[in-house]
Amino acid sequence: MVGLLTDFRSIRDDFPILRSRKVIYFDSAATSLKPTQVIRAVRDYYELFTSNVHRGVHRLSMEASRLYEDAHEEVRKFINARYLDEVVFTSGTTQSLNLVAYMLGLSLNPTDNVVVSIMEHHSNLLPWVTLSKIRGFKLRVVGIKDDYKLDYDELSSLVDRNTKVISITHMSNVLGTLVDVKMVSKIAREVDAFLVVDGAQSVPHIPISVVDLGVDFMAFSGHKMLGPTGIGVLYVRKEVQDSLTPPFTGGGIVDSVKYEGGEFSIKFLNMPWRFEPGTPNIAGAVGLAEAVRYLRKLGMDNVEAYGKDLLSYALSKLSSDELIADKILIYGPRDLGCRGDIIAFNIVDSNPHVVASYLDSYDIAVRSGLHCAHPLHQRIKAESGTVRASLYIYNTKEEIDAMVNALREYVLRFT
Ligand code: PMP
Repeated sequence: MVGLLTDFRSIRDDFPILRSRKVIYFDSAATSLKPTQVIRAVRDYYELFTSNVHRGVHRLSMEASRLYEDAHEEVRKFINARYLDEVVFTSGTTQSLNLVAYMLGLSLNPTDNVVVSIMEHHSNLLPWVTLSKIRGFKLRVVGIKDDYKLDYDELSSLVDRNTKVISITHMSNVLGTLVDVKMVSKIAREVDAFLVVDGAQSVPHIPISVVDLGVDFMAFSGHKMLGPTGIGVLYVRKEVQDSLTPPFTGGGIVDSVKYEGGEFSIKFLNMPWRFEPGTPNIAGAVGLAEAVRYLRKLGMDNVEAYGKDLLSYALSKLSSDELIADKILIYGPRDLGCRGDIIAFNIVDSNPHVVASYLDSYDIAVRSGLHCAHPLHQRIKAESGTVRASLYIYNTKEEIDAMVNALREYVLRFT
């Protein structure tokens, strides 16, 4: 572990913002910092390759198309998908999840149901709420237990022969809770339901194999895993592709459009291109590919181990400090094996925004509020929100000490 920590410390030099700004950045669950390698790849695309993709026979366009296709291949390897055509680029997790909801939800009927959990980010909740109102199907919501883990017994009891989709987070963006997706996959298979997984928080932090997990769809965002904003991914398992029609259409996704006898007939391109209408975010894709290369070079096992080490240090510091321990409420499982490096907390009788502003006065960036998960905050009785410190590869134990010291000051002065 000592060697591992030394390596991670040296990568801080790769993040220019850590040199140009005085900041302890604990907001990576909102968006991660970007290394020089990613910034340079995006700039190189604009300086050396600017051109549209899949639209020209001239060399620039062919080079840009190759870079764009290579980016799909990098992501395929990163999530251990079997085929390149399973990797669809979108603008981010939100678009990916809306795409799935519209693709699957528009054909559901009032006797059908879709199962989600109370931990969902609004991105994996509101599209299903909207579709359930349009189509009349039931939305069933699985709860969490008091230890902040998913209630798997309730999940089993809510899923039945009328369940057409289970759409669930892999890692809660508030509690850090990891969901046992393999187990959920077994439950989905028993009733022939589609399994959609929101990997926005898990994919940047732990090794992912979509094959091992047994998912049909997986959504995630480039910007939370060192990549640029405006690029994301929807993994679509080969075996489910034939049953799908693109809900959003336009240029760049058809083989042919014919108008005969007053009727239009459309022949779509193969996957994944038929799900990427319009000019895609080419620079974003190139940047994401570089981010993925960066993470693969570090090794996702190492990324996970480093995150766990920081998390364990932070949790033990916060819960054992003689000043803070009695004044802090930490949400999320105690068991490190089933959680990621996100720590949501409150200081008793303190508004989370006030605590976050206080930390900001020490150049410590945390997020406060309801984190686009209002029903979850209702469930954990934190209606005013929580303070969320989210950790990543460039953070250090010294930074955690600095946050603990600032919280000690806060507790001394205001509670
Ligand atoms: N799901 C989860 C679990 C998230 O944390 C987020 C981002 N906060 C999203 C979905 C939405 O991601 P994006 O804003 O990149 O579309």
